[in-house]
Amino acid sequence: MTCKLCGTGGLPLFYTQGDRQQYKFYRCLRCRLVVYDTRTGVNQAKYIVSRVDPAAPTRQNRGHRQTYAFIRRHARPPAGGRLLDLGCGDGTVLWLARRDGWDVRGVELFPEHTKLVRDTLGLDVETADIMSYEGEEGAWDCVVLTHVLEHLPDPVAGLAKIRRLLKPGGVGVLEFPNIDAFDARLRRLLARLGIHRRRYAPDYVPGHVQEFCRASFLRAAERAGLALERWETYAINPVKYALFRHVPIGNKARVLVRRPR
Ligand SMILES: [Zn+2]
Repeated sequence: MTCKLCGTGGLPLFYTQGDRQQYKFYRCLRCRLVVYDTRTGVNQAKYIVSRVDPAAPTRQNRGHRQTYAFIRRHARPPAGGRLLDLGCGDGTVLWLARRDGWDVRGVELFPEHTKLVRDTLGLDVETADIMSYEGEEGAWDCVVLTHVLEHLPDPVAGLAKIRRLLKPGGVGVLEFPNIDAFDARLRRLLARLGIHRRRYAPDYVPGHVQEFCRASFLRAAERAGLALERWETYAINPVKYALFRHVPIGNKARVLVRRPR
């Protein structure tokens, strides 16, 4: 395996998934990126949602509210800012932003999502693959990419796309798993020692093609011409969130990057 970030070859095995340990993830010792060997297959279809209700008291909506609160804290432009959500899913972040005065648009891979979000919330959403999406260059104050980066075959190209779409000085808000979270490290240790291995459904196939930590994300952002301004970790649980925002050991990262002026 070769590292997608720095080109180092012969990456060592880092961990496996699946009940037969058939899914293999390798780690670059130089830039810390974790790369999945996709020859054993990738499953992206498991992320389909079938219901849209931004006001429902669900765990997922609590997550969306955290995302928007972060945007509001760090990316609030003068009135009338433009926000683009790449991979907008059920549209809740767009819905929250529009309610707060942003001019919003969404892009979604699955046509089922696009239709659902348009019909239910009346939001401007189009169906496109993020990697082939052209969009309006240099037009956005904020570009959002949540739980998408780990799925993109070429993550640096995805980040470079965010840079092109942003106005100079505009910000990107991203969320993705933090592979160096405390519980992820503990799980890997227990598996290595043979004490405990996660059980997998018989039809389990990984959905992520790479995983980031702070160091590998910083490197990817820099290669794409974006400056990393904030790195926080989070959990949906409010008590854990209060801790992880300040002690960055949570299993999901929430970051702010800026296109330099
Ligand atoms: Zn590397």
